[in-house]
Amino acid sequence: MDKSAASKRVKQLRDEIRRHNHLYHVEAAPVIGDQQYDELLAELADLERQFPDLLTPDSPTQRVGGEPIAGFVSVEHEAPMLSIDNTYNEADLRAFDARVRKGLGPQAEFSYVVELKIDGVGLSLRYEKGRLVRGVTRGDGRTGDDVTANVRTIGAVPLVLRRPEAKDLPGIPDVLVVRGEVFMKRADFERLNAGRVEAGEEAFANPRNSTAGTLKLLDPRIVATRPLKYFAYSLAVPDHRSGGPASHADALRWFGAMGLPTNRDNAQARDIDAVLAIVARRQEERARLDYAIDGLVIKVNRYAQQAELGATSKAPRWCIAYKYPAEQATTVLESVEFSVGKTGAITPVANLMPVLVAGTTVSRASLHNFDEVARKDVRAGDTVVIEKAGEIIPQVVKVILEKRPADAEAIAPPARCPVCEHDTARDPEGVYWRCLNPACPAQVRERLKYFAGRDQMDIEGLGEALVEQLVGAGLVRGYADLYRLAKDKLVELERMGEKSADNLLAALEDSKTRDLSRVLAAMNIQHVGTHVAEVLADAFGSIDRLAAASAEELEAVHEIGPVVAASVHDFFHSDAGRETVESLKAAGLKMPHAAAATGGPTPLAGKTLVVTGTLERFSRKQIEEKIKSLGGKATGSVSKSTDYLVAGADAGSKLAKARSLGVPVLSEADFLTLIGEP
Ligand SMILES: [Zn+2]
Repeated sequence: MDKSAASKRVKQLRDEIRRHNHLYHVEAAPVIGDQQYDELLAELADLERQFPDLLTPDSPTQRVGGEPIAGFVSVEHEAPMLSIDNTYNEADLRAFDARVRKGLGPQAEFSYVVELKIDGVGLSLRYEKGRLVRGVTRGDGRTGDDVTANVRTIGAVPLVLRRPEAKDLPGIPDVLVVRGEVFMKRADFERLNAGRVEAGEEAFANPRNSTAGTLKLLDPRIVATRPLKYFAYSLAVPDHRSGGPASHADALRWFGAMGLPTNRDNAQARDIDAVLAIVARRQEERARLDYAIDGLVIKVNRYAQQAELGATSKAPRWCIAYKYPAEQATTVLESVEFSVGKTGAITPVANLMPVLVAGTTVSRASLHNFDEVARKDVRAGDTVVIEKAGEIIPQVVKVILEKRPADAEAIAPPARCPVCEHDTARDPEGVYWRCLNPACPAQVRERLKYFAGRDQMDIEGLGEALVEQLVGAGLVRGYADLYRLAKDKLVELERMGEKSADNLLAALEDSKTRDLSRVLAAMNIQHVGTHVAEVLADAFGSIDRLAAASAEELEAVHEIGPVVAASVHDFFHSDAGRETVESLKAAGLKMPHAAAATGGPTPLAGKTLVVTGTLERFSRKQIEEKIKSLGGKATGSVSKSTDYLVAGADAGSKLAKARSLGVPVLSEADFLTLIGEP
């Protein structure tokens, strides 16, 4: 393909990808599947690689996140992001309405827009000639942090605006500054937290914290993996006198027409009674929304009237926030239990005197970890305030010290495991206390439940209750014991008939065919969840190659950092790890790995390559991706198991080592010939 044809195709692909992105993120009505979308992206990325000067920062390929940055630059907002006055009851809302009527004069006609106040993080976006040039956090309202590199990874934020089709709407302005909220849906937040706990990291307290923490990450590649959403909610500098929208409602419609996502649950109200009706309705619906809100924002609709009302030094006079009372309750913390997870992590859980919060009876609350317990100074017997906010599991917010009984007992980390009485210890750099006994029945149980789970070995019928029965009866201690279960032993278990025993044995047999990445994810290696397992399976292709990999080779894999590399290396070099792998193999697990499903040819399938020196056609990252896309594995150091060394200009010690080990050395041209791209 020549350059002009490529340029045309690149434009076509970008338009097409942007259209699908809009349908997916803004309309919530995708017309193609993920795989087709990924194919379009891959074709575009390929063309941009061949013709690097066609690559622009607003290309959809740039959403995956660039290199980590050293820190954030502070930027002044175009207009201050003022805070909004809060109210908590009907009387305050009516007083606000009276002030608005007084300010506009008795004859004035006006209306309100009522918006959901999403519990997220305020973000200002600047577009120049329709292209996203900057994203800045609210900060202190006058200046915020430039987080553009992270904002680019948010799928719902258009990198290029669409031209509005409706005749009554303005076109794309030279400069557009839009304010909005970045947030996480509850379900996404819970999945993210589950993954963190599984990886031994501390859970986020609520979706707001996880959103704020994510926006401030220095590595946009990690941000790209986080499920951030965005709603635009205001125009920073309305210019209704020179052709901009005349009202807030028009601005929201304009945003939508330009491809910016807006919340469809926003409503207009002709007077304060209509506002109050919406307040009541939303409060009821609140728990059913798939994102957390902490109230509503009520704005005078017309910009001319907003300007007439003006602002105090602190907040605008034309808008107000109505905050719902926090879903809190006061109760007595009767006792604390310690639950032991699959990695031995010991979590304190509060047993509460049952109390009604947000429509459900709550009798247990998470205390997260012992640092939290110490920070809040929670003791058994205390009267505590509990809250259900964005999170589903209620939390202990604070202790009411005046009500503390004299015999309230401090909650200390247990010196011995509450289940197996083995020693415990605190993580060297983490927050958890763990039971150090890998044979701990609680850990065994939790590990087996996880092993059988849907995203791991997916063993149908092997649920929580059955795992407990099997462990309780002494039939199963390790994963491989599952594959030695005999029907005559199974039918002796309570509630286990012939039919269920047969079904279980068939499900176990079926699970022997699970591919490598699932088995890896199921093995309970610290820091190895579903995604990391897939990365490792793709990079090494077989359990034996992975088990033999040095920490250095592991770390050379894209996306694998030193902590994960060390954890994987330690696992495969521990007695328990070796025993796990050998026993699963002996049980008949094949752990096959299908080469990266690109659909294309895989001339490097099963080959391990090392790249050294400076190449002409590829950056280091590009050639490593190329090797991977063709079924090969790119590692960082030369060893006996290296199939080829690709050496560019100025190759040094790796070249010498390859020669000494007799590893074939390829020039860049040889490599291109090998992959059929001379
Ligand atoms: Zn234990």
